[in-house]
Amino acid sequence: MKFAKTVGVIALLAASQIAQAQAWPSKSMTWIVPFAAGGPTDAMARDIADKVSKQIGQTVIVENAAGAGGTIGAAKAAKASPDGYTFLVGHMGYMGAGPALYKKLAYDPVKDFEAVFRFPDTPLVLLVGKNSLYKNAGELIAAAKAQPGKVNFGNAGVGSTSHLIAALFEAKAGIDVTPVSYKGAAPAINDLIGGQVDAMFDQSNTALPQVQGGRLNAIALTSLAPMPQQYPGVAPLAEKVLPGFEAATWYGLYAPKGTPKDIVQKMHQAYVKALADKTWTSRMANQGIQLLPEAQYTPEAFAKHTASEVERWRKVVADAKIQID
Ligand code: ASP
Repeated sequence: MKFAKTVGVIALLAASQIAQAQAWPSKSMTWIVPFAAGGPTDAMARDIADKVSKQIGQTVIVENAAGAGGTIGAAKAAKASPDGYTFLVGHMGYMGAGPALYKKLAYDPVKDFEAVFRFPDTPLVLLVGKNSLYKNAGELIAAAKAQPGKVNFGNAGVGSTSHLIAALFEAKAGIDVTPVSYKGAAPAINDLIGGQVDAMFDQSNTALPQVQGGRLNAIALTSLAPMPQQYPGVAPLAEKVLPGFEAATWYGLYAPKGTPKDIVQKMHQAYVKALADKTWTSRMANQGIQLLPEAQYTPEAFAKHTASEVERWRKVVADAKIQID
C-alpha cells in the first residue's frame, strides 16, 4: 500500500515535469554573463541570445553578474532553479581552469551543470596602446626581461581568459609582468586606451573594432595561423617569438543541474537552426570567430569537452605554476 502511494507520487511528479517541459518556454529566460557589459563574452552572448530567442519565440534577458573572473556569476547560476529559465554563459576560465585555480570554488563545472551547447571559439590578440613603445611581441618581451614587473597587463579578472593567457605567455616567454584585474574585458580595454595599463590579451571579436578604429594596436595573435583579413601584418606568437604557442577561448551555454533533458535538447536545436543563417555565421567569421563542426556544438560533446578541459587545465596550471590564491 505504502509502496503504491510512493509510486503514485513519483508518477505525479514525473507527469508535472513533463507538462512543464511541454509548455516551455512560457515566459522570458535569463542568461547570466559573469562579466561587465561590452566585453567579448557579453557581445557574443547577446548576439547568440538574439538568434536563439527568435527560434524559441521568447525573450532572452542577458544579466551581467560580474566579478572574481566569472566565478560569482557561475556560482549564482549553479544555485538557480533548474526549470529551464536560467542559463549560464560559461567559458574556458571559470568553467575550465576554475577548479585548478581556486582552492574553494562554490560550484563544480561538471557536476553542477548540464552542458547545453558550445559557442564558436575565439582566438586572442595581444593589444597595446596607440602610442606604445612596443611594436611587436619581441620588443615587449625584451622590455619585460630588462625590467621584471615593469610591464603591466590588464585582464578581465583573476582566472579570466585574458589573465590565463597572459600568465601562459609570461611562463613561456620567461618574463615577469604585473597583472591588473578588472570586472571584465571592457573596463580593462578602456584603461588600455587611456594608457593606465601597457598591454592586454583580448578576444578577436571585441579587439577588432578597437584596432580598426585606430584606438589600439594589435602586436601578436594567439592563433597558429595569421589572420590577414582581420589583422593584416600581425604575426602569430608561434611564428617566431614563442614557437608552438596557441590559444583560443571556448564558450558555451550551461543550465543548472537537473534542468529537464528535453529543454536542453530544444535549446540546442534552436541554436543549430539559427546557425543555418549564413549571413550571421559569415559575420562571425569576419570578426575572427572560429566556427566549429556541428558535432562539437551538441550537449553531449560540450559536456565531454568541459570535463576534459577541467583535467587539461589542472596540468597547464601546475606546469605554468599559475597561482592566484
Ligand atoms: N571573456 C573575457 C576574459 O576572460 C572577459 C569578458 O568577456 O569581459 O578575458
